[in-house]
Amino acid sequence: MKQPIFLVSIFQERIWGGTKLNQVYQYDIPSYQTGECWAISAHPNGQSIVRNGKLKGKTLGEIWTEHPDLFGHFNSDRFPLLTKILDANDDLSVQVHPNDEYAKVNENGELGKTECWYIIDCDEDADMIFGHHAHTKEEFIQLVNEGKWDDLLQRIKIKPGDFFYVPSGTIHALCKGTLVLETQQSSDTTYRVYDYDRRGKDRKLRELHLDKAIEVTTVPHTLQNTSPTTTKQPGGTVTTYVTEDYFSVYKWKVESTIELTQDKHFILCSVINGNGQVRTEKGNFKIESGDHFILPYGMDSFTIEGSVQIIASHPNNGGTQQ
Ligand code: ZN
Repeated sequence: MKQPIFLVSIFQERIWGGTKLNQVYQYDIPSYQTGECWAISAHPNGQSIVRNGKLKGKTLGEIWTEHPDLFGHFNSDRFPLLTKILDANDDLSVQVHPNDEYAKVNENGELGKTECWYIIDCDEDADMIFGHHAHTKEEFIQLVNEGKWDDLLQRIKIKPGDFFYVPSGTIHALCKGTLVLETQQSSDTTYRVYDYDRRGKDRKLRELHLDKAIEVTTVPHTLQNTSPTTTKQPGGTVTTYVTEDYFSVYKWKVESTIELTQDKHFILCSVINGNGQVRTEKGNFKIESGDHFILPYGMDSFTIEGSVQIIASHPNNGGTQQ
């Protein structure tokens, strides 16, 4: 079983979604308002299914429980990460996520949600909301209550290839015209702060969660963006974007043939463009843009051939919740 485990994605319709998941990745999306591809997920709200090998047809949650050896017996009561691709065809609500301690008590044992974004593509002059300008919790509450969103929220310009680390407690929102690969803790807990007073298909406003949002937001916002490091090696480059409590995230940019080592518990891989193949002791596996797979424990060394870019991640020590 020391071979890549390929997964079938789940799609989620959202009022801010669009059709880019089909246009860019040829996914069979459920509607013209498809916002999220849950690409590598064992979360109960949408699980990936294995599409190759002996475990074909099983959910990622099932193989996590039944075959802990594939994951190097990683010490966690659930598959710890969730990889998504998001098509923000409109502005997402301004939101914040709790940390593990808060979510465990207030959200029935859910994990907190620290996440990060790789900008696959975006409109020219696209931006996003990342952090806020309040100096104290009192000032934060006052600006929220008065609806002074332009004074409160920090907007920053983005471009394709940018990466942002978004720890729990950070106010954030993706804005219109952004296609993002998100790596996050396996959690579906969001506190909505502001939704632009939009009404859904049912003409209703979506619920806000101001009390919880105020409790969990980090004030003041002092977070600096992480700076990636890129190392060149024969056949391509490896960029490290972040190594934090919950995950590390990398980009493998392959130009011909690159040799890599799987020395982690397991690695999540998403092909964001190009195509090629993964060569392992157990055979060769074709990969193309839009594929998602896991490299299991003990795969050791492997090579990737082709002209292909992959966002890879693995969990770190944090996130363990027994
Ligand atoms: Zn979020």
